[in-house]
Amino acid sequence: MLTAKEIRESFKSFFESKGHQIVPSAPMVIKDDPTLMFTNAGMNQFKDIILGNQPAKYHRVADSQKCLRVSGKHNDLEEVGHDTYHHTMFEMLGNWSFGDYFKKEAIEWAWEYLVTVLKLDPNRLYATVFEGNPSEGLERDNEAAAIWAQFLPADRIINGNRHDNFWEMGDTGPCGPCSEIHIDLRSEEERKAVSGLSLVNQSHPQVIEIWNLVFMQFNRKADGSLEGLPAKVIDTGMGFERLCMALQGKTSNYDTDVFQPILKEIAKMAGTEYGVNAQNDIAMRVIADHIRTIAFSITDGQLPSNAKAGYVIRRILRRAVRYGYTFLNQKSAFMYKLLPVLIDNMGDAYPELISQKELIEKVIKEEEESFLRTLETGIRMLDKAIADVKAAGQNSISGKDAFTLYDTFGFPLDLTELILRENGLNVDLEEFNSEMQKQKERARNAAAVETGDWIVLKEGTSDFVGYDYTEYEVEIL
Ligand code: ATP
Ligand code: MG
Ligand code: MG
Ligand code: MG
Repeated sequence: MLTAKEIRESFKSFFESKGHQIVPSAPMVIKDDPTLMFTNAGMNQFKDIILGNQPAKYHRVADSQKCLRVSGKHNDLEEVGHDTYHHTMFEMLGNWSFGDYFKKEAIEWAWEYLVTVLKLDPNRLYATVFEGNPSEGLERDNEAAAIWAQFLPADRIINGNRHDNFWEMGDTGPCGPCSEIHIDLRSEEERKAVSGLSLVNQSHPQVIEIWNLVFMQFNRKADGSLEGLPAKVIDTGMGFERLCMALQGKTSNYDTDVFQPILKEIAKMAGTEYGVNAQNDIAMRVIADHIRTIAFSITDGQLPSNAKAGYVIRRILRRAVRYGYTFLNQKSAFMYKLLPVLIDNMGDAYPELISQKELIEKVIKEEEESFLRTLETGIRMLDKAIADVKAAGQNSISGKDAFTLYDTFGFPLDLTELILRENGLNVDLEEFNSEMQKQKERARNAAAVETGDWIVLKEGTSDFVGYDYTEYEVEIL
């Protein structure tokens, strides 16, 4: 069985053998772009080349990019821990062509890598192609479909809509169709019982997207019309942890050697095992996921703080602490104790973890301790509310109180409910939701929304539209 380290290396050496320059991952934290807080895809670091603002130093590059999807267009936070294949931080393997090769090579090499090199079962693979959109004068991507037809029967080449299969960066600029590769990891029995087609893109937890190949062939002009792009671009991204899952014969990213050592350590600390209790498993997955995000953010220069990107990181850390506190009985700082295992596992590929170990440890421990104090103050407030309600002979605390706990003390609603249930009480949910709604509206009015992979500022203006992020976007649970 290939290890995660070997898989990462094999990707790079495969594309090196196809004439690609291997480049390092860009930092996950973005400091010089007002429109994007975190790298959310491999192509972010090549934005200026793709836009034609900067010449390409190499016309073929490949890398493994640290990505974070917790805000803006790509926000997977709520899935994390609940499903087994979305992470906050993940590695995206990618290869690019800037005005060099196009669809034929991109598809043929993807296939060669997955099937010939890695020996994935070709009968479990699907490809999607853009179905076209006549109202915009866009045709089906028959070109890609014909290339896929060399490898796949017609019933495993599936039409995809504009949402999934047409990539554009914003209102103007390079854009084009894409083809996604999906893999069906269901058992033979289940595959026989339900045939696969309709499952693709419908989030069957074992029929998942692994690789997206974007073919930028158009330029969208300011008037909305499309023209051919003189230097076409290939931009691909493959989820590394998902690839490891497929290659290691697992059905959850967390069962691979990317996460197992961390999960074992968490289980040891909590005096339990992974895989015996569904709710505890969610908590363990959240913690295993979030420790990576926090450690890598710190090494990339983003400490937890009160504002903007720092606040996103703080909320992620708190989310993990709360899960540990509520479900795994971790009443004192514990996250920082996971670092040795994380570093042992990922330090080779990302040596910044090793060189900054002490800083990461210190920052996480301090954050945890200060949050646990807040958490305890919140619990005292809740205890008082419970006593008041009981004294008054009622059976629910007000939605306003539950909202203050959420908003000021960072208590997720389910934590409040859990504690209340132990006391035979509940929450006025309607009032809680209406408080939440009011708060969201206030936040929405205060913030502009990031809708694309990046926002192009109009020439001649310095319109900074603001970070699209409100603390409510970094939802808890
Ligand atoms: P999905 O539909 O599964 O959310 P996506 O279409 O949003 O994925 P892309 O933007 O196409 O993802 O990114 C390229 C690849 O990165 C995906 O094919 C997938 O393998 C991987 N990927 C995307 N989001 C995540 C995530 N949150 N965690 C782990 N891997 C991811
Ligand atoms: Mg997604
Ligand atoms: Mg998708
Ligand atoms: Mg995709």
